[in-house]
Amino acid sequence: MALIVQKYGGTSVGSIERIEAVAEKVQQYRDRGHRLVVVVSAMSGETDRLLGLARQISERPVPRELDVLLSTGEQVTIALLSMALEKRGVPARSYTGSQVHILTDNVHNKARIREIDARKVRADLEAGRVVVVAGFQGVDEEGNITTLGRGGSDTTAVALAAALGADECQIFTDVDGVYTTDPRVVPEARRLDRITFEEMLEMASLGSKVLQIRAVEFAGKYNVPLRVLSSFEEGEGTLITYEEEEMENPLISGIAFNRDEAQITVLGVPDQPGIAAKLLGPVADANIEIDMIVQNVAPDGKTTDFTFTVNRTDYEKTLEILQDVARALGASEVSGDNRIVKISLVGVGMRSHAGIAATMFRALAEEGINIRMISTSEIKISVVVDEKYLELGVRALHEAFHLDQSGD
Ligand code: ASP
Ligand code: MG
Repeated sequence: MALIVQKYGGTSVGSIERIEAVAEKVQQYRDRGHRLVVVVSAMSGETDRLLGLARQISERPVPRELDVLLSTGEQVTIALLSMALEKRGVPARSYTGSQVHILTDNVHNKARIREIDARKVRADLEAGRVVVVAGFQGVDEEGNITTLGRGGSDTTAVALAAALGADECQIFTDVDGVYTTDPRVVPEARRLDRITFEEMLEMASLGSKVLQIRAVEFAGKYNVPLRVLSSFEEGEGTLITYEEEEMENPLISGIAFNRDEAQITVLGVPDQPGIAAKLLGPVADANIEIDMIVQNVAPDGKTTDFTFTVNRTDYEKTLEILQDVARALGASEVSGDNRIVKISLVGVGMRSHAGIAATMFRALAEEGINIRMISTSEIKISVVVDEKYLELGVRALHEAFHLDQSGD
């Protein structure tokens, strides 16, 4: 018998039939003797609909009122799910974020959870009730309703699981787990039984959008075992957990990729101390996030070339900024390319194995794919290649590292 926090996303509660199906699932878990807290999102499309209403009034609605509006989506779902549970003879109680004291800071529209007073939830669990909590919302010290940013229900679930010391936090969604890569690109992609928090963070931030990144960070910090699983099919899903010493870790867990990249190159910058700061400072000041950076000194030793990547949506703006900066610094040329992608191999097994980069580069070379940039970390190797090579590159790597075959 375990204490489980379950979270059901928008598509899982997208209609009355689906809400009834979730109620059935919750009932089954309860029949097996588990104690359950269920966090739900708004019905699919509802948050966007509400946002649309607000935008009809103003391009920039007052953040406080936007939170009051958006939080209603989840309030609808908790009530409907609790009704569906009660109808099945399962005692249930719904609560908004403020009712269960999900205390946040006062940053409207992207608040962070500070504290949860879980006494009420515990009392209900003791009394044999299923506790249904609205995801994505909290309350600040002054009693104002806050929301946690898009996809924030994942974070609500993890935070509640941490506060309650739950045995597991289960995120039910429309996929049945975390895959070695996007199955739309590689049909042989395989569901992973488990993956570490660290790997998941790399996969998530690189575009495998299964879970809100913040929720994974939170789970890692408080060591909450997190499971991603389908609300439509049976199955074990993927367990996201700590790296275990005694386990033989697979070399590579997955291949992430990001199509939202653009590359910028500044040639012939006079090579002096402080030049990187002078060049990239104005970009950072414009709130543009810089990802990979490569600096090369020219053979004459007097000038240096910079290449870096930014999000594609920031491409034009970055070029504009740099043209001015480069002129002021006496650089010879600014150029760019927004038809590039980043492909990354991710795996904690990399720490203890050499030669992975070589295998990666060979596999790409065999397909005639030119690598434009490389960056590495302890558990990740990323390359930038031309956009047209994305599918081919990911497939070649998936095959080269035998990711279609289970490691155990
Ligand atoms: N309903 C919110 C959203 O659409 C929160 C969530 O679904 O997690 O972003
Ligand atoms: Mg979601």
